[in-house]
Amino acid sequence: MATTLISNADIATTESDARIRLVGLGRKEIAQHLTDFGIEPKKVRMRTKQIFHWIYNYGVTDWAQMTNIAKGLRAKLEPHFSLARPEIIERQISVDGTRKYLIRMSPGVEVESVFIPDVSKTGALCVSSQVGCTLTCKFCHTGTQKLVRNLTAQEIVLQVIAARDDLGEWPTTQEKRKLTNIVFMGMGEPLYNTQQVGDSLDIICDPEGLGIGRRRITVSTSGVVPEIGPMGARTSAMLAISLHAANDELREQIMPINRKYPLKELMQACRDYPGLSNSRRITFEYVMLKGVNDSPKHAKQLINLLKGIPAKVNLIPFNPWPGSDYECSDWETIESFADIVNRAGYASPIRTPRGRDILAACGQLKSESEKRRASEIRAEQKQQQS
Ligand code: SAH
Ligand code: SF4
Repeated sequence: MATTLISNADIATTESDARIRLVGLGRKEIAQHLTDFGIEPKKVRMRTKQIFHWIYNYGVTDWAQMTNIAKGLRAKLEPHFSLARPEIIERQISVDGTRKYLIRMSPGVEVESVFIPDVSKTGALCVSSQVGCTLTCKFCHTGTQKLVRNLTAQEIVLQVIAARDDLGEWPTTQEKRKLTNIVFMGMGEPLYNTQQVGDSLDIICDPEGLGIGRRRITVSTSGVVPEIGPMGARTSAMLAISLHAANDELREQIMPINRKYPLKELMQACRDYPGLSNSRRITFEYVMLKGVNDSPKHAKQLINLLKGIPAKVNLIPFNPWPGSDYECSDWETIESFADIVNRAGYASPIRTPRGRDILAACGQLKSESEKRRASEIRAEQKQQQS
């Protein structure tokens, strides 16, 4: 059997919970809520620190576990503030260990995140920054789903919390955690939601909380040029560029955003990226599309384009999805492409497709939310008929 489907019967849901959910919020917001609640001003800072640590270091889901807060106070806080998680509607595990989560943040707002364990001790959680996407890159499944909305910082953080729950990785301080890296490579364009992405990183990277180092965060963009520099300055995250073509004509065809921000401007923004150095390279993602962008000529164009930029190239075999127009390049073609790029001095690993069997690989995200919606609609219709 390729896929294991696990029910979420044991996972708390909050659909009917009218309390304010503190999980996923930053220190400032928690402090504000405590102030509004009436906590003495001079104690707000201390209480915030305690609660923040319980939530993000210990992953507590119950006020009773916050043992350094007096019982009486906990009893007052509990009816107002919830520690519950969003509902995981579906959790699938691929034969290769990749886990895909479909999480319902609120009615109609469903996001996918994917945990990809590495062969080494690390593992990356691929998070979504939007539901759907406004950009319509031709090879991407998410690009066929209209934008539902931007996710909030809280909803981005909740994706990390849900994965840590599922992997049993509390407290943060335990050794051998597998979720070590975060990549913004799920649904949506993070640089069309920079404020919330930046705020979410302040929480995710807080050393007293989830404690993921900023160099272990990668933000991937299709090339929203004006946001690249400010995002780097604000977050100190690593940058990945979805390049996929090294000349404007071809890139325009497969990535319409290139019309607005052509390669010259994009590459300049890369050169200016804050903190760029040989130990902090930009990753250029390049999806291998058969007969489209995979010839030796294209590889040489790529090398020319990258000249002078501390870069590595991730070659991504195209992941097919229902209705897609492209095919993945042949293996030999990918290898010769990688060779050319490699000989020019750029690391150019070929990314092993992960979680293809559960449509969790790059560019395949979308279908589950839509399928779910369709099945829900059918169920509703049935109910109405009976
Ligand atoms: N919107 C951002 C973040 C999404 S990252 C961006 O485009 O960078 C998802 C990565 O998977 C991007 O590099 C994207 O170009 C790539 N991708 C999209 N569809 C794909 C597919 N069908 N096969 C392989 N990679 C794909
Ligand atoms: Fe959106 Fe990125 Fe997919 Fe393009 S590749 S449609 S920007 S998610």
